Amino acid sequence: MTASATYPSSFRATLAQHSLRLRRSRAEILQVNVGKLCNLTCVHCHVNAGPKRKEIMTRETIDRVIDWLATTDIPTVDLTGGAPEMIPDFRHFVERLKALDPPRHIIDRCNLTILLEPGFEDYAQFLAQHEIEIIASMPCYSPENVNAQRGEGVFDASIKALQLLNSLGYGTAPHLPLHLVYNPNGAFLPGPQAELEADYKRELKEHFGIVFNNLYTITNLPIARFASYLKHNNKLADYMLLLKEAFNPATIEGLMCRNTINVSWTGEVFDCDFNQMLKMQWHDRGRGLYLWDVDLASVENREILVADHCFGCTAGAGSSCGGALV
Ligand code: SF4
Ligand code: SF4
Repeated sequence: MTASATYPSSFRATLAQHSLRLRRSRAEILQVNVGKLCNLTCVHCHVNAGPKRKEIMTRETIDRVIDWLATTDIPTVDLTGGAPEMIPDFRHFVERLKALDPPRHIIDRCNLTILLEPGFEDYAQFLAQHEIEIIASMPCYSPENVNAQRGEGVFDASIKALQLLNSLGYGTAPHLPLHLVYNPNGAFLPGPQAELEADYKRELKEHFGIVFNNLYTITNLPIARFASYLKHNNKLADYMLLLKEAFNPATIEGLMCRNTINVSWTGEVFDCDFNQMLKMQWHDRGRGLYLWDVDLASVENREILVADHCFGCTAGAGSSCGGALV
């Protein structure tokens, strides 16, 4: 039996079947994807990031983003990429955000290994000085799985970086939260978040003396490099069926697209980073919107642009930038 024989063929139809609408609530987070430059080339990467990518946010665009943010009361800025630290104006971005009145809380989505790369040795210290929350990718606590997904040597470098962050107070000091992100190493859903967190805490403490705050489980969405991997292994249809079968209406309320505005390295606006990769930009009267075109008062209750990749966020316990939803 095919997926369409049992289930509505689209995410939109599934929402309708459950009498659900996906609309925005109050914006609480501005997520800025500063570009596609990264020192790694992970198999699951939804950005297709890598060391040769040239797309990065310029200082001029950073300043425009911050000038817009200064007119709002959005309390949190979530920096993602690529490896956000690699853009030349990363420090400028952070320093301007902290100079705003009130200063904004900053999250850095860090791949850990960048903190050991030549030229970036003092970035961990910089992050700590500016009290930046770190959400770090760590797809497993065993070297085999991490190296298979992220590249040879990535596990050892990640462990060293976590030990460095711990030595600065990350994971223990209340103003220096350190969270880890788990994502499955293949075409399956994450296991229960609380159980995985307990396993990670036990293993990382016992073998490496590492401590951290929370583990977030994030589902791989069937787009970009992960979609290519699925297609290459003839698993795309099965994975879509898995996601559709696991649709959980209780996840809708907490989806990140409800309270997060996502911006690209050029300033274009989206409902989330996945929509950004699919070029599902916000439009007004046929014109693509940039952040500085947006009147925040008009954002609340705006309909969210959805497509079938959204099944990745609503499967099982759900998945968003802060992990499982239910
Ligand atoms: S998943 Fe993260 S660390 Fe890996 S290539 Fe993509 S942006 Fe870089
Ligand atoms: S991909 Fe996820 S976060 Fe993005 S619009 Fe769809 S449900 Fe929302």
